[in-house]
Amino acid sequence: MDVYLDNLTMEFQDIKAVDRLSTTIKDGQLVSLLGPSGCGKSTTLMLLAGLYKPTSGDIYFGEQNVTKLDAEKREIGMVFQNYALYPHLSVLKNIMFPLRMQKVPKKEAKERAIEMAELVQIGHLIDRKPGQLSGGQQQRVAIARALVKKPKLLLLDEPLSNLDARLRLEMREEIRRIQQEVGITAIFVTHDQEEALSISDRVMLMKNGILQQDSPPQDMYRNPINSFTASFLGNPPINFIKVTKTDQQGKYKIMNSSQLIHLAKDIDMGQIQLGLRPENIYITNKEDALMTGEVVHLETIGRDTLIRVKIDDVTIRALIDPATDIHVGERCHIGIKQEHIRYFNIENGANLE
Ligand code: ATP
Repeated sequence: MDVYLDNLTMEFQDIKAVDRLSTTIKDGQLVSLLGPSGCGKSTTLMLLAGLYKPTSGDIYFGEQNVTKLDAEKREIGMVFQNYALYPHLSVLKNIMFPLRMQKVPKKEAKERAIEMAELVQIGHLIDRKPGQLSGGQQQRVAIARALVKKPKLLLLDEPLSNLDARLRLEMREEIRRIQQEVGITAIFVTHDQEEALSISDRVMLMKNGILQQDSPPQDMYRNPINSFTASFLGNPPINFIKVTKTDQQGKYKIMNSSQLIHLAKDIDMGQIQLGLRPENIYITNKEDALMTGEVVHLETIGRDTLIRVKIDDVTIRALIDPATDIHVGERCHIGIKQEHIRYFNIENGANLE
């Protein structure tokens, strides 16, 4: 089922928690709502669930305008951060619960619950109580319970937040697998950019209630619409370098530095901000260098080495090959994969391309 939001707005007193949000979520897609705390993710989810009624704007499920439809009539499954299982009921009874509320006969409810338990791979745990399960297993129960009624839309509110790092990875793959197997349209709220990028068909990044960018993950990472998007995605984060275009063709001066760098890109005169992702910066020899600086920090993170290089008053992060023979205190020459440089307006952050 497609989900269509048309100028959805939710005001609380003087706060616009969601501000003219419009988008279409295609049938069977998993879309993440991403953004910093307070950006309006949970409010959007509550509006979709029918637990809030919007100040203005409309929500459509397929052709149907559901804006005024009560929550229980929306055919939605929800999964929360805290699982929200009934502790005194067995796993099986937890999963059966929504069906029993709908007066589905016990035998059929049991069969459907077992089928769901198998799908989320907890078929062997159905007689246990939630307290006897790990966090990941509890979340599987919550997902099975959300799906057992065969809803048209699955809403997930930070479902991985209570899990440790390893389980988070495992469960995000599982959520994706289950969502695709069932073929259900899903909306996944998270403040974790890596999670959003890895799990989604599309990411909707919000700030102060306003949708900043709505793109497939790789597009958003490679072509951020503004410096907020650029800085919100990526770990280690993107480097911003303020430069002033000099009167020489293709030359930019790094602000607070005497270094002139030559960039192929021809942008109007004046001050701009370059966005350089750490993985697109490398150590090179003097002839090919774009900048020269001093290594002030070096650490190994996973399969890469992260270095920080001070170029006069500017410090930038680069991810380099751990085999590189370089040490803190040494001077180094830096190259940049020029096609990956992004150019931003210094005042409003807009991508200049
Ligand atoms: P978090 O990641 O911290 O959960 P969020 O992105 O989900 O944040 P929301 O909970 O949707 O953000 O909140 C958006 C804005 O609306 C915030 O400024 C918040 O303080 C405000 N807000 C949310 N719910 C209410 C409410 N019931 N009454 C008043 N203001 C609210």
